[in-house]
Formats: sequence, C-alpha cells, structure tokens
Amino acid sequence: MALRTGQSLASSVAGQRTAEGRMGTAPGEVQQQWQQVRTLLRAELGDTAFGTWLKPLELVELAGDRVVLGVPTQFMRDWIVANYADRIRALWVRLNPGVRSVTLAVRPPGGEPAAPVAPAPAAPVVPLEPAEAGGEELGARLDPRLTFESFVVGKPNEFAVAAAEKVAMSATPPFNPLFLYGGVGLGKTHLMHAIGWRVRQRDPSRRVVYLTAEKFMYRFILALRSKDTIPFKELFRSVDLLMVDDLQFITGKDSTQEEFFHTFNALVERGRQIVISADRSPSDLDGLEERIRSRLSWGLVADIHPTTYELRLGILQTKAEASGVDVPLRVLEFLASRITSNVRELEGALNRIVLQANLTRQPVSIEMAQEILKDVLRAADRRITIEEIQKAVVEYYGLRMADMTSARRQRQVARPRQVAMYLAKLLTPRSLPEIGRRFGGRDHTTVMHAVRQIERLQAEDRQLADDVEAIRRRLQA
Ligand code: ADP
Ligand code: MG
Repeated sequence: MALRTGQSLASSVAGQRTAEGRMGTAPGEVQQQWQQVRTLLRAELGDTAFGTWLKPLELVELAGDRVVLGVPTQFMRDWIVANYADRIRALWVRLNPGVRSVTLAVRPPGGEPAAPVAPAPAAPVVPLEPAEAGGEELGARLDPRLTFESFVVGKPNEFAVAAAEKVAMSATPPFNPLFLYGGVGLGKTHLMHAIGWRVRQRDPSRRVVYLTAEKFMYRFILALRSKDTIPFKELFRSVDLLMVDDLQFITGKDSTQEEFFHTFNALVERGRQIVISADRSPSDLDGLEERIRSRLSWGLVADIHPTTYELRLGILQTKAEASGVDVPLRVLEFLASRITSNVRELEGALNRIVLQANLTRQPVSIEMAQEILKDVLRAADRRITIEEIQKAVVEYYGLRMADMTSARRQRQVARPRQVAMYLAKLLTPRSLPEIGRRFGGRDHTTVMHAVRQIERLQAEDRQLADDVEAIRRRLQA
C-alpha cells in the first residue's frame, strides 16, 4: 500500500514540476515536501517506528541541493543516518529531483530557534509511547488473523512452517534459536504470531513476548535514560518464549547488541525458546558482532523462499474464499502471474478488488482488476530486467543475443536494438547510462536517441508499433 501511495504522489507532484526541476523552491513548498515525505515514511514504516525515530525530526532548511533536518540527540542522529537517511533522501528526490543529499544536525530542543523555512512545531525531547501496565504488555499484541490455520503452505515455505510448528508444539526448545529469514512480505511475522498463538493455546500460563528488534532497542534506551536497566533485564529474562522480529534493525548499535546478546544467553541457559526473524541469514547480517552472529546460527536457520506461482494462487484462493466475494479463477490466475513481488502486495491487490466489488456490486472480471490495479501492475512491470527485454527482442526478430551488444549498424539489427533500448527505458527503472552499458557500452546519448526514434516511429509506422506492442505484451505476460 505504502508503495502505491508513494508512486501516485510522486507522479502527481512530478506533473506540477517546472522544467528545471526544483531548487530555489519557495520555503512553503519545501515545508510541504517535508510533510509529504513524512506521510510516506509513516505509511511505509508504521506508526511505531515513525513515532520513535522520525516524528521528532524537524526541517531546518533546504540549502542548495542539501536538505538539513534537525534531530534532538546524537544517538538518534546516528540511528537515523544508519537506517533511514537513504530512504528519506530517495523519497525526497522523487518529490524534488533537485535534492542531492539529506543531512542530520543535532539540535537540542531549546537550542537555536528554527530557521525561517521551518516553522515546525517543537519536537518532543524523548519520543514516548503510552506507558504499559506493569510490564505485562512487554511486547506487541499478537494479531488474531495471523495463525497457522490461515497460513498457506507451499514449497517455498514448508520447511520454515515445519520448524515453526515444531517449536510451537515442543515443551522444551527443539532448537534454539529458531532463526527465520526471507524477503519482505513472505510471512515471517505471520509465522511468529502463529507460534505465539499456538504456544498460548497449549499452555496459557507461558509468557509469550513478541516484539520487533527496533522496539527492543527502544525500550532498552528508555531504560538506560532513566538509569534503570535492572527491571528491563528482569522483565525480559522471565519470558518463556521470546520472539524478536526484523533483527536487521538492531545491527550497528553496540550497547543494544550487547544487551540483546546477554538477554539471549540468559534465556537460552534457562531453557526458554527464542525465535528470531530477519531479512537475511545470520552470516549476511552485517554490522553484527561475530560472536552474536555465530550464536544465532547454533539453532535452526530456516529460510522462506520467494513465492512460486502455485503458492500465490493458493493464497489468493484461500483469501478470496474468506472474503465472501466471488472472484473467478481466471482473475486469481491473472493476479498470481502478474503480482509476483510478495504476499503483502498480492493481498493488497485482492483486497482492492473485493472492496470494489462490494461497493459497485459488479461481477469481478480481468478488465475490472486491470483498471483498479493499474498502478500496482505498472510497478510490477518495472521489475522486468534489461536482459529479459533483450532476449524477447532477439527472439521476436530472430536475431542473436550478440546483436544487442555488437557494433553492427545494418537496419535489421540496429532497429531491433533500438526497440530493446526503448523498452528498457520504458519498463525498467534503469538510467540511460546504465542501459547504454548493457548494450555493449554505448553512450547514454545513443540510448536517448533510440528512445526518441522509436517513440516517433511508432506514430508513423504501423508495423513497428505492432511489433513493439507484441514484444511488450510478451514481456508483461
Ligand atoms: P514478513 O514479515 O516476512 O515481511 P508478513 O508475515 O508480514 O511478511 O506477511 C505479509 C502479509 O502476507 C501478511 O498479511 C501475511 O498474513 C500474508 N502472508 C504471507 N505469507 C502467507 C501465506 N503463506 N499464507 C497466507 N498469508 C500469507
Ligand atoms: Mg515482518
């Protein structure tokens, strides 16, 4: 969902942009961009992470091509630089291509007044969450929808599911920790919640704590600040099942790693179960101390692979059925073949169709799906690679791959090559110089010329237009 918001927002703003792009932007406009970036970040990161790390930021100024943001403490500065600065910059560049960098400056609250462009409300000194009663709510609540029953098993995740079930069903840890890893939206969080539910169901007296690594470190920092880490330690060490989600966010901060490691060891020694998730394997988690890394691999490391078409279709069938809306199989097949990135996007797409069907009371069709999901499908198309495009063009025209990179200039080779460059620009996020490199090290001006040429020719040359369309359809099928 967040991605979609970002795209439509970025493109609508891009539409209003002046030819040169953006600097010398009026202060009000910069403030507005900052508000948009904040909205996008909140949608992407969720309220907790946003509230903890990004909400306290304030816009100081846009100096030349550099955005300066104020942050209350050095610690927060380091954390944001390590984890969010690139994302802030990327989002900002989409709104305003004139921005080249984002700098964070420590500005203790009550320090110098905000620069004129930033009449931002005073940032809270310490990002606070509502107090949690007696440590009972140490972690986050488990989501009742995320159970083993609602998890669809297929080849890519069957090993991870088996491991998760084993952990959930055993009285003593069968392996410690269980380390689940895989790309975003493939079901790590779902499986952790499922373990939590099952364990609680089997024995309500067991203390189950689920939280993100970020939240873990946030709580630790709060404890440090109040110089009161003992209750913190005690709290975590009295848990029967500790699940820490998205461990990749804990890397790089020594004192928190240290604390995590101690908690981890204390629990393992006491025979308590630990489950950890991350977006990559322990050996690929950089910024993590070696002893922690090796300790993480002692238990069982289970990866969740990217979805297959079968699994995607299975998930869609299950979810469509649960929605109560009649979604024809061919629409589900269409979705399963077109939205391949992750289950979250797949779910989001189906939800929009179901919502539309409920609102309009119209039967669901492929045309309707295409119309509603235009933006998502376009995003999916962008994941086509240059190599796939070259292959498709070569096949279509009966050429060889070498023709894509060779210097031959005969029309029957040069024109298809231009078509491939045009499609590469159209269907991938690659820049002109990058595309040039992939076509035998050609200059970016050559690529630009090809793009313009094919754009122009399509208007005059019916045959060429049909060819381009046919290749494009084949690539997007
Ligand atoms: P991750 O934590 O790996 O990023 P999530 O567990 O949040 O991914 O999964 C994203 C969404 O997709 C969730 O709504 C989850 O319920 C759903 N999901 C993922 N895999 C499956 C599956 N195999 N069966 C059913 N739903 C799934
Ligand atoms: Mg997750």
